[in-house]
Amino acid sequence: MSVDKAFREMVRNEIEAQLKPLRELVSRLEAGTSDLDRLRNVAEQLAPLAGAVGPLFGVSGGGGRAAAPAPARRGPGRPARSAAPAPVSTGGKKRGRKPAAEGGARDCAIIGCGKPSRTKGYCAAHYQKLRMLEKTNRRPSAWVDYAEPNSVEDIKLPRGRAAAKALAEAQKNAG
Ligand SMILES: [Zn+2]
Repeated sequence: MSVDKAFREMVRNEIEAQLKPLRELVSRLEAGTSDLDRLRNVAEQLAPLAGAVGPLFGVSGGGGRAAAPAPARRGPGRPARSAAPAPVSTGGKKRGRKPAAEGGARDCAIIGCGKPSRTKGYCAAHYQKLRMLEKTNRRPSAWVDYAEPNSVEDIKLPRGRAAAKALAEAQKNAG
């Protein structure tokens, strides 16, 4: 209670200070040396104060309440995100594969593979294939590192005798 009383006392003193120019003005009004502009200024100065302290004294401020600062409200926890996620260009045909595995891993770069990428944008199997092609000097130019998911055409490797021939061809070109 005593704190409340002290606070009210403080406010009262503050009002006294604020009212001083008004009192002077009133005395001048009474003396007939009034200045209406000055009166208006003082009234404007007092308006917010009256609005702020009026409720403390049970004064219905006659709209002055609006001038009192509204209680600070906690907004929603996070600021609203403005940007929607940018559309991702797949750079190729989309197959009806299920989206990448958990953790937001990207799909293998090879079109139609659908497995999650493990290394440099390729699944384990296709990265093995890439390494083999690289080693045998047959890596297709499209098989770049970190290619977009589902963007690289798979290649069919020759088998049997054709495979040996292709390998030899590649070796010759390399040398
Ligand atoms: Zn793959």
